[in-house]
Amino acid sequence: MDAVIAVLPGDGIGPEVTHCARNVLSAIAEKYQHNFSFREELIGGVAMEASGEPLPAATIDCCKSSDAVLLGAVGGSKWSDPNAKVRPEQGLLKLRSELEVYANLRPVKIYDELAGTSPLKADVLVGVDMLIVRELTGGIYFGEKTRDATSASDLCTYHTHEIERVVRVAAKLAGARRKKLCSIDKANVLETSRLWRDVTDRLMQQEFADIELETLLVDAAAMHLLSRPADFDVLVTENMFGDILTDEASMLAGSLGMLPSASIGDSTRGLYEPIHGSAPDIAGQGIANPCAAIASAALLLRHSLGLTREAAAVEAAIGDAIAAGARTADIATPNDTTVSTQQMSEEIMRCLN
Ligand code: NAD
Repeated sequence: MDAVIAVLPGDGIGPEVTHCARNVLSAIAEKYQHNFSFREELIGGVAMEASGEPLPAATIDCCKSSDAVLLGAVGGSKWSDPNAKVRPEQGLLKLRSELEVYANLRPVKIYDELAGTSPLKADVLVGVDMLIVRELTGGIYFGEKTRDATSASDLCTYHTHEIERVVRVAAKLAGARRKKLCSIDKANVLETSRLWRDVTDRLMQQEFADIELETLLVDAAAMHLLSRPADFDVLVTENMFGDILTDEASMLAGSLGMLPSASIGDSTRGLYEPIHGSAPDIAGQGIANPCAAIASAALLLRHSLGLTREAAAVEAAIGDAIAAGARTADIATPNDTTVSTQQMSEEIMRCLN
């Protein structure tokens, strides 16, 4: 297959981990005889330094004319003044809206060998393999905002079609997994959640009767994610609840450096990035964990290029490298010898071959 992949390394450890993910994609192309071409552009703080804009027009054009976008991370203390008019993170929000990606997929899989790095007890983590689907472009983050001297408000709005399309994505993914979907809302209090629940119930009955549907209130879901995480297959929820619950779920895996994400919409072109940020505290030291970025490349192969066998090979190689004992500092226990970003990536490539 021929594919054009836009690569946006961004700031901090973004370039370090994206470099590894790109190398893995090149290795896949060679092994399975595909022709991937890469086009690198600026985003975030480095783009602001070059042009004043966190998402220059050239970057948007490049992404829109590519088959998929691989992103590192944006942000850093240099650009973190909360009163600044232009911030690196604006580039990311704009990119998501330019690409019309409305479903954010965050798989959380625990490698048995890493159970000791999670703050949770190892026996609770056995068999955890969930996929959280977060609605990405609606809800309270995008509603009208007001502020005066003594009050403030943020409007939360959802439309039926916004709920239907993201629940459909989640239900289809559940159909290819363990056929269980958990929808999370706050229907005992919020009108938008009552709409979410009505639309979800109807859609699931009409189109996905073979999928088992569970409904949880968000406060209960926050507890169940920690007390019985292995019970969940696919979870779907609105924007703000998803933002909070996905960070909570990331702690099951012990390190942000292990978790990838995909943002997809109606077209096959998606945006793939690790869930972590630019980690300024370790940037430039060559010690960042590249697994999340490499696993994001696997999601790119699966969701944008339809290369499921290749995606599975990358995921298996990450698992094999971990089983063989490769540990960057963030996933090491006190007696482990640690490897650098580059060494971890080389070990994954060795397992791939
Ligand atoms: P962060 O995710 O960058 O880092 C949190 C902690 O996790 C740090 O101690 C860091 O060293 C560690 N960490 C993160 N990724 C790691 C990896 N791959 N390997 C090893 N350790 C890793 O979050 P933060 O410190 O809150 O934010 C730093 C900057 O990143 C901020 O400017 C923030 O706005 C930005 N940010 C960007 C994104 C994004 O680009 N999608 C997401 C979150 C935060």
